[in-house]
Amino acid sequence: MKIPKRIIKNLPPVCQLTASVVDAWGGRTYLVGGLVRDLLLDAGALSEANRDWDIAVDLRSTGKGLLGLLKELQNRTGGRYVFHHQFLTGTLMLPELRVDIAHTREESYPQPAVLPEIRPAGIEADLRRRDFTVNALALVLSGPETGTVIDPTGGASDLKHRLIRIIHPLSFIDDPTRIFRAIRFAVRFGFEIESGTLHLMRQAIAAGYPALLTPERILYELRCICRERNALKMLEAVIREGVLAACFPKSSGPEFFGVPVRQVLNELAALVHSGAGEELLMIYLLSRLPVNERFPITREERAAREALMNRNVLLERLSRVRRRSSIYQLLRGVPVRALEILAVLSPGPVRSRLRLYLDELMHVQPQLQAADLIAAGVKPGPQMGRMLERLLVARLDRRVKSRDEELALVHRLQSCNV
Ligand code: ATP
Repeated sequence: MKIPKRIIKNLPPVCQLTASVVDAWGGRTYLVGGLVRDLLLDAGALSEANRDWDIAVDLRSTGKGLLGLLKELQNRTGGRYVFHHQFLTGTLMLPELRVDIAHTREESYPQPAVLPEIRPAGIEADLRRRDFTVNALALVLSGPETGTVIDPTGGASDLKHRLIRIIHPLSFIDDPTRIFRAIRFAVRFGFEIESGTLHLMRQAIAAGYPALLTPERILYELRCICRERNALKMLEAVIREGVLAACFPKSSGPEFFGVPVRQVLNELAALVHSGAGEELLMIYLLSRLPVNERFPITREERAAREALMNRNVLLERLSRVRRRSSIYQLLRGVPVRALEILAVLSPGPVRSRLRLYLDELMHVQPQLQAADLIAAGVKPGPQMGRMLERLLVARLDRRVKSRDEELALVHRLQSCNV
């Protein structure tokens, strides 16, 4: 199968440059990864912004190495490179795009679910180590074969039949992250997981292989899913197939870590329908998963997660306060992301208080600032802090509405020695 020359000509110049340098050295250059898949699905895919550009080079017969190539490309483009010697990969960063460049290699897994050992090899072996047939396609970028698609595993046919199929039977055992990936690609493209692949996927889940993954790798896959347009359907499938429960078998308990699966799915659906993006979905999931200290999550995520886990106390208190300033004082220390989630998931009256805080109260500030108070005779220090707080409360409760009314309040409070 051939891709028309005009499409190849439209690749970013750095692809052509890499191909011509490698060609002059006597090596081979290929475009690989999801880009070739997307190109076969839709010739317009190359023009999408923020594409990942994945190039594979075979330098075995050239006497040169990947590091030499990255240096050469850096000199010629003025970009910057990063080189990962142990993985035989590198990245070239240019102002307008970044390109991942890897040496073609084969790999073996010393144990299930650990990162593979790799050795340089040709393009066919490189494609056969990949996750699914539809991702095991390469496009030749130089020499007489330019434009030819290399397809050793039947990926083009599976694309036509809309199937996600693994390349060898131990695939999910070698790397259980492929379970998440199979679901993600199937939902993204509206493909089916081929029946043999589905069977092996379910066997790997039932046999507990996802539990061998590190939290890093599990969270990476969840973040990839949360970034997708159809994240809800993917998360539903991941939860229904028991993938997450299998990742954390010690804590899994009944249903979804002790919460009815239906409830988790309903809450996820409500969040997605309210327009929640990647960050909120991820925090919600973290609040339902048995996260411990070792989990690589940000400080903000951890704080928001904790607030969500203590939601019952917070919501109960919130249901009892009426005054605008009391709502403010109750919620001001709570991470905003957690409140945004609770504003979607909570019942009526509490929800409207959360929305009031998020849309209005948290942005309220007195007009007078510290310098104005000093000019009005307030001493810097604790008295200033108390005065600013009183002004804020008065503003929140709409007892003062202008700068003059604020000043009048300051004078009144001073006369009472606040
Ligand atoms: P996307 O459109 O989401 O970027 P992609 O197919 O480019 O999809 P990447 O995660 O960027 O996905 O991976 C690039 C390529 O690397 C894949 O197409 C696949 O060939 C290979 N790959 C990625 N992850 C794995 C894996 N876990 N096992 C085997 N091959 C993988």
